[in-house]
Amino acid sequence: MKKVGFIGWRGMVGSVLVERMLSENDFHSIESYFFSTSVGGEKAPAVKNAYEKVLSSLDLKQLSQMDILVSCQGGDYTLEMYPLLRSSGWKGYWIDAASTLRMKEHAMIVLDPVNSDKIEQGISQGVKDFVGGNCTVSLMLIALHGLFKENLVEWVSSMTYQAASGAGAKNMLELLNQMQSIGHLSAIHASLGALEIEKKANTLISSDQFPKEQFGHPLALNLLPWIDSEWPTGQSKEEWKAQVEANKILQTKTPVPIDGTCVRVSALRCHSQALTIKLTKSADLTTLEDLIREANPWVRLVANHKAQTLDQLTPAAVSGKLQIPIGRVRKMTLGDQYLNAFTCGDQLLWGAAEPLRCVLKQILNRS
Ligand code: NAP
Repeated sequence: MKKVGFIGWRGMVGSVLVERMLSENDFHSIESYFFSTSVGGEKAPAVKNAYEKVLSSLDLKQLSQMDILVSCQGGDYTLEMYPLLRSSGWKGYWIDAASTLRMKEHAMIVLDPVNSDKIEQGISQGVKDFVGGNCTVSLMLIALHGLFKENLVEWVSSMTYQAASGAGAKNMLELLNQMQSIGHLSAIHASLGALEIEKKANTLISSDQFPKEQFGHPLALNLLPWIDSEWPTGQSKEEWKAQVEANKILQTKTPVPIDGTCVRVSALRCHSQALTIKLTKSADLTTLEDLIREANPWVRLVANHKAQTLDQLTPAAVSGKLQIPIGRVRKMTLGDQYLNAFTCGDQLLWGAAEPLRCVLKQILNRS
């Protein structure tokens, strides 16, 4: 059995990955080793064939005993440890959720429903570094797979609504703390009128007492129209990723422009995106809907009606599910080649953990 090391399994992506692997019995066919920067020496998760103790994720010697390392620890960890491992002569497979290596020539961005054949080719050709794509990029590509396959996309503008858990466990917990302190305020001022409570709530979220160490700003009762660092183009780094990563995954000869504004909202889990798509040619709506619906096993077309949209196309409806609904599909008044759509997907499943799980299985099947 191959030795597989899991780094970052306590975080949002890592814990969803372990949950998925447990439910698919993936641990039965590997020897698992769990690594951590903070709980080394403690008891490892109770999964089949796991080494009983948590190892230190900074221990190069232990890490390099592994045939495969799966890191969900974050970009800083990859930046520090990956070069050390490779320069020590480690030749194993590196599977990563962080963006650090995505655009490197030696790394493939993995998204099973869209590029599993290319991943297969990559493994055959000796690629050793496989990285999950940015969550919104992966979810958008699965949702629009049918249109990309038929070369129907001239460009896409994506306006995102990204959940708090996309920023990690501590951020998601902070949002809940923020909500709790707002709940407390409204409980003690229950007798006040709506406008008076609104003023008190706004004062609270702007005050230094409000918990905002992780986000740096209130997210509850608010939204944050900037995710990740500033990029020289005026985009945020999150916005920059859309075009470069999508085109790398699709292996396009001429890049398809993809750009928009990425916004953090106070959903707990699941990223949503409002899409404007310029088509390369006119096509009737029924044909476009059929292409979207039939592209892969995970996309779900939601009829463009109010009841279905509000039932099926929200973070609350999608959370914890592998299906990726896309709806609000209609021609826009901008012209016949402009398509409107809205999609919502679980960024911790197909947006993060699931592509890693799939590539791990593909590598194991080949070894
Ligand atoms: P995260 O939740 O912040 O977890 C990262 C690490 O933080 C954990 O492995 C754990 O490491 C440590 N940690 C500290 N306090 C913790 C707590 N209270 N609960 C859990 N873990 C805690 O990070 P993440 O969101 O999973 O992201 C990991 C990587 O995946 C990042 O590079 C991110 O950009 C990428 N990614 C994330 C998402 C998403 O939706 N979150 C989607 C796609 C890609 P130790 O055990 O070493 O302490």
